[in-house]
Amino acid sequence: MSRTDSRRVMAAWLREVGVDYVLRPSPGGETLDGIREELTDCRRCPLCAGRATVVFGVGNPRARLMFVGEGPGSEEDRLGEPFVGAAGKRLDRWIERIGLRREDVYIANIVKCRPPGNRAPLPDEAKVCLPYLLRQIRAIRPEIICTLGATALNFLLGVEEKITRVRGKWRERDGVPVLPTYHPAFILRDPARETEVIGDFDALASRLRLPPAK
Ligand code: URA
Repeated sequence: MSRTDSRRVMAAWLREVGVDYVLRPSPGGETLDGIREELTDCRRCPLCAGRATVVFGVGNPRARLMFVGEGPGSEEDRLGEPFVGAAGKRLDRWIERIGLRREDVYIANIVKCRPPGNRAPLPDEAKVCLPYLLRQIRAIRPEIICTLGATALNFLLGVEEKITRVRGKWRERDGVPVLPTYHPAFILRDPARETEVIGDFDALASRLRLPPAK
């Protein structure tokens, strides 16, 4: 077993017995609050002009499972929390199906400010914002990341893949296993594909050794 693997096994065990704090903070590590503070009133890209709120991320700072979406929509911008609109409700349903609650996982986006007209973030916008997401990942140290949709996958991994080709296939970013699945908004438009997402969530649950979904 490699050092990273044995550290991961040890972290999972410590979490299980409720003393995971002994591994935190990591040497030189930083807190989510510290990163959040840097983004208060962020003006590093043009998206700041149209936003009401910087949508930093939400959930358990020690989550074993982290979701990454594309960018805030209008409801998220208004409320300051990712995935709170119709797509978010569908994501909540998938999370609950594997026996977790929204508060158990961590949810963030590639960009933290709403792109106008709900368009996908531009490469320059994603480039400016990505370091903050990578720092969030480092602070949380999830065991698994699940990307939602092609934009999240491609910007997080620096690839240009078709989501229909790669969903359900494990990838990796900075040593963290990444499972791409469809964006919930896509499933709202094409419900027949939801069975594939259900399969991906079963794969997440199995990798986290959660009890099988009912
Ligand atoms: N879609 C996303 O990708 N992220 C959100 O936060 C909401 C909708």
